[in-house]
Amino acid sequence: MIATKGQKAGICPSPTGRGWREAPGEGRRFIQMAFLILLLATSAAAQQYEVYAIRYAVIPDFPVSGLIADADKTRKIDIAMMVWLIRGNGRNILVDTGFYRPQFFKNWKVNDFVRPDQAVAKLLKSDVVTDVILTHAHWDHADGTDLFPRAQVWIQKDEYTYYTGEAWQPDGKHGGIEPEDVKELVRANLVGRLHLVDGDQEIAPGIRLYIGGKHTWQSQYVSVATRSGTVVLASDNMYLYENLDKHVPIAQTFDRDSNLRAQDRMKTIAGKPELIIPGHDPAVMTRFPKVVEGVVRID
Ligand SMILES: [Zn+2]
Repeated sequence: MIATKGQKAGICPSPTGRGWREAPGEGRRFIQMAFLILLLATSAAAQQYEVYAIRYAVIPDFPVSGLIADADKTRKIDIAMMVWLIRGNGRNILVDTGFYRPQFFKNWKVNDFVRPDQAVAKLLKSDVVTDVILTHAHWDHADGTDLFPRAQVWIQKDEYTYYTGEAWQPDGKHGGIEPEDVKELVRANLVGRLHLVDGDQEIAPGIRLYIGGKHTWQSQYVSVATRSGTVVLASDNMYLYENLDKHVPIAQTFDRDSNLRAQDRMKTIAGKPELIIPGHDPAVMTRFPKVVEGVVRID
């Protein structure tokens, strides 16, 4: 409100001219202090969430050279297949949805599989997933999207546009993209559940999405305000802790420099380096406290 003649700038009087203005000095200060404390407490709480990593499968003996650029080709690792759950402020936001369609079990050796919706149910019980953030459209991150039919789905606009169009033209690139998953994204769009994120964007108080260094056409990662500081869910924009520790790009990116810049930026966003969570590192499951089998709490 702009102060007019006769009004004090900065304090908005009540329409009747009574209210705060008539409170005696001490009482008025007390009310103002109480209001301020309430406001600060409310806004702090409103921007904090719980964050969990949920492992729904393990793929054994994965070549590290497929994860870390120029790694020794003989190195192998049992990679964790994970989704991440953000809880708070009336939202249950799932970051990525894993896979479950039968064709993937023919192509890969998969151990300790729990269907992603059942893995998430270990934490949510009867609650529903309100939102799904897809960090990218790869099969092992987006295939389970139709297991959460009530969720609002958030994906980068350029990722959606490319994989529903040009990627399937003669010079297009769609390695790791499952046609069924693309159809599900289109279906979500047709019923108004799909949100196209245009670059870096805050989608809820304390939850931000950032473009992620071209792991796919326009991959993204997520930052979340928590009681321990800002958590960064890097997903495949940083496959393993080793990427960050050795400052090495991921093996699968359209642009290595862009990927390194994204990893560098994550360090400036995260409350501390330990709160940057890689997409497939099995160590995530041992570095944080276990909640139930296959679930750890990050924040
Ligand atoms: Zn990927």
